[in-house]
Amino acid sequence: MKISDILACSTKAFPSIEIVPPLKGITKAELLESIAPFMEFKPKYINVTSHRDEYEYSQQADGSFTRKLIRNRINETTVCGAILSRYDIEVVPHLICGGNTREEIDSKLDNLKFMGISNIVALRGDSTLGEKRFTPTPGGYRYASELVEGIHGYEKKYGADLFCIGVGGYPEKHFEAANIETDIINLKKKVDAGADYIITQMFFDNKVYYDFVKRCREAGITVPIIPGLKPLSTARQVNMLPEAFSLNIPVELTDEIAKAKDDKEAIYRIGTEWCAMQCKDLISHGVPAVHFYTMGKSRNIVEILKECF
Ligand code: FAD
Repeated sequence: MKISDILACSTKAFPSIEIVPPLKGITKAELLESIAPFMEFKPKYINVTSHRDEYEYSQQADGSFTRKLIRNRINETTVCGAILSRYDIEVVPHLICGGNTREEIDSKLDNLKFMGISNIVALRGDSTLGEKRFTPTPGGYRYASELVEGIHGYEKKYGADLFCIGVGGYPEKHFEAANIETDIINLKKKVDAGADYIITQMFFDNKVYYDFVKRCREAGITVPIIPGLKPLSTARQVNMLPEAFSLNIPVELTDEIAKAKDDKEAIYRIGTEWCAMQCKDLISHGVPAVHFYTMGKSRNIVEILKECF
């Protein structure tokens, strides 16, 4: 079932779960065990992120370069296959422009079509290690809006509406955008290209999300905008998350964490309770769904799901 149909049929907010594919070495059984705690809450679908293999380049005496694979994850389609082999659930693989030519994207779509997967989140992806800014792969797509167009171009070959497409949105603006207005104009390009819904980057202040939705509606974006949440779980994340995702953490939350000093469990509790409070408030404001970035952790999200759904 397509996410757009799930959203259209749904009468109350539901949770969706996003997982990161494991690094190589993890077995299928371990992967399935890691998502089992979420299944009790019957999420309607699971998103699986996509990642480029990471290489280190070193110059040889003769001036040539050799590359060494330093980090790779199990590919998103394979992870989706593993989930489908155990659970009766929709899977939503992410597809990124970075590292793929247009032909390679079509080849990935061939695989998804073969598996009967009808949902995709289309993203640009980030720069690779050592790159200052995102550089499109020669023969690949520069922006997620082009990828959305490319997916629809692929569908035309089959004369069928094969995929429901989600895209990313940034309530606190994408870090490269000059301002939120420009970023929303660019977000609208993705929707105009045929995206069916938006999932937001994580945020810790719901007002930021409500303002963003209002601006999007004023800009003529009418598709569902699903809020994305991640519970803060360590003191380190107070600096790490703003740096990695270009977002703000409200002072009320940072003050509470500062008061907890080195008490790891207290910090975990504060982050979990804050996220549960955000989630309840979002549901009371009538959001269609709440998307959880699990980033390899389940305990806090399970607690939030128990409390809110
Ligand atoms: P785009 O929509 O292409 O936007 C990138 C930048 O370009 C923005 O600043 C935008 O304003 C600007 N822009 C867009 N279109 C134009 C245009 N036509 N002209 C000029 N400027 C333009 N990353 C991964 O590597 N793997 C994942 O699985 C993954 N999952 C994600 C899931 C969600 C819900 C979100 C919100 C992000 C995810 N990311 C993932 C991160 C994402 O790849 C990065 O945030 C990336 O930097 C931007 O991706 P995008 O699709 O939003 O890019």
